[in-house]
Amino acid sequence: MVCFRNVSKRYSGGQPAVENLSLDIDRGAITVFVGPSGCGKTTSLRMINRMVEPTSGTILVDGTDVARRPAAALRRTMGYVMQSSGLLPHRTVLDNIATVPRLNGVPKAQARRRAQELLDVVGLARELGRRYPAQLSGGQQQRVGVARALAADPPILLMDEPFSAVDPVVRAELQQELLRLQRQLAKTIVFVTHDIDEATVLGDKVAVFATGGRLAQFAPPAEILRAPVDNFVAAFVGRDRGFRALGFDSAAGLELEPAMTAGPGELAGAGSQGWLLLTDGVGRPVGWLPPGVRDRDAMVAGGSLFVLGSSLRQALDSALSSPSGKGVAVDASGRVAGLVAADRVLRRIEAGRTG
Ligand code: ADP
Ligand code: MG
Repeated sequence: MVCFRNVSKRYSGGQPAVENLSLDIDRGAITVFVGPSGCGKTTSLRMINRMVEPTSGTILVDGTDVARRPAAALRRTMGYVMQSSGLLPHRTVLDNIATVPRLNGVPKAQARRRAQELLDVVGLARELGRRYPAQLSGGQQQRVGVARALAADPPILLMDEPFSAVDPVVRAELQQELLRLQRQLAKTIVFVTHDIDEATVLGDKVAVFATGGRLAQFAPPAEILRAPVDNFVAAFVGRDRGFRALGFDSAAGLELEPAMTAGPGELAGAGSQGWLLLTDGVGRPVGWLPPGVRDRDAMVAGGSLFVLGSSLRQALDSALSSPSGKGVAVDASGRVAGLVAADRVLRRIEAGRTG
């Protein structure tokens, strides 16, 4: 879909910003450019829509050299989202979203209707459409930026650190929203970030850039974590990478132990040995009672839960964070499905290594 062929960029006089980049970006997938500051991510992204022209090499979109297409027409096929939302301060949210369709000649009423729908798509209340950008939180502004980029329904979305300026909690929400959106829209997304965790959460494939605009590795995120090609990538990926890589292994089929549980008012009949998992009225876990203690007021907070079919990382974290040493698996409705100890998860990991 988007192909870089031996692309280099040298700004006047300086060192190469991008060095002989060759890379194929898959249609309908999220490709992440990640790397430390100044390694040529933004330059590479902007060469796709000709905001920056390469010094040498070719970029093809659907087989056509972008240099042969008028820049304005090319950009209409690509949404662009930046770190600063780039919204026009004196226009309402709705008019900001409608900007590109209006430039494309869509009548005002129709462009506004579409903008209203896009507020739903990006998870914003419709009332916000009448506000001005300064009246929104940073996270809301970034959602508007995404809505605006989607307004002309372009097949390609270019996103340059769109979530870098918002706090970590909102950032994680925006990441999940983008993944949800992408499941519906299946755009070809090129996403730039300097954050390796964001890259591995979002990317179907991740391109790790090194200083000097050199592409160090281009692979699915699990492979970047498990098998960094060199010391630069290993250092950039950072600590805990073995543990983080477990996030890509499914816990489906992990054998669970039955849980000894007690709902409200059920303590009397509960066995007296071992840890007891307390649940609410519908069987969702609320905490643990230590061995021998059978007083609901002595409840100890539970660890993390893992949903059936989620990852081995979540299963192991659940076991390691549980006061009883047993991770709690829940079904899709949040009810207790069973327990798992860390050693069982580890045996499963070992089986995966040899099998
Ligand atoms: P990143 O997005 O990875 O932080 P950039 O693509 O912005 O990196 O920059 C790569 C290199 O090119 C840096 O050394 C930067 O200083 C330089 N650079 C970027 N834009 C320009 C420009 N317009 N003029 C001159 N040098 C630039
Ligand atoms: Mg940049």
